[in-house]
Amino acid sequence: MKLILLGPPGAGKGTQAKMLSQRLAIFHISTGDIFREAVQENSPLGLKVKGVMEKGELVPDKIVIKAVMDKIETHSLKKGFVLDGFPRTKIQAVELDNALNELDAPVDLVIYLRTSLKVSISRLSKRRVCPKCGFNYHLINIPPKEEGICDRCKVSLIHRPDDKEETIKKRLEVDLQESEELLNYYREEQRLEEVSGDLDSDEVFETLTKIFKEKKL
Ligand code: AMP
Repeated sequence: MKLILLGPPGAGKGTQAKMLSQRLAIFHISTGDIFREAVQENSPLGLKVKGVMEKGELVPDKIVIKAVMDKIETHSLKKGFVLDGFPRTKIQAVELDNALNELDAPVDLVIYLRTSLKVSISRLSKRRVCPKCGFNYHLINIPPKEEGICDRCKVSLIHRPDDKEETIKKRLEVDLQESEELLNYYREEQRLEEVSGDLDSDEVFETLTKIFKEKKL
């Protein structure tokens, strides 16, 4: 199955994508993860995107599209994939469609996790991440057993630099600017399914599973 998960920062795209990738045995491709890894490794890509990410702005389309297509072509076409955090602009969506059509492997479904501002802000500001396994904690809803430490890996959790208050605001603003055009693109082609991202992660996952069944995917 080839899926796209859309939604504002804090919608739970990463959480759902991880669950779907395990359940359906498909690749999870997160552009945010690709860029964070590159920044950590100080690679040429990392040096290009670091400043932009810290400000909560978008990485230029050309760079993002290349990073995604490299991943898709090398690993994921046969097995299927779930895209998380990509596309974020209409240009990215069109480029993705063109590239996949050329490979005769169009996306099966696009899901939008519609999420209220209040829930997004709460999830992002209280999110803490394990740098080793990538598990997302929430200081109130999913706290670690020992404060600041990952239950599984026993390493210190991090507060993503772009999850600080000012950057959260900027990321949500950027999302508002770009998302209407992006959603309309998929709506016009009747490829978009909307699910509430305000629900807890198990409820969202159940809803998604029902949609796949209805659509015989
Ligand atoms: P995320 O983990 O998806 O919230 O992404 C973290 C940051 O990476 C974003 O705030 C952007 O700076 C950058 N980024 C991730 N995906 C994209 C994308 N599709 N287009 C542009 N920038 C992106």
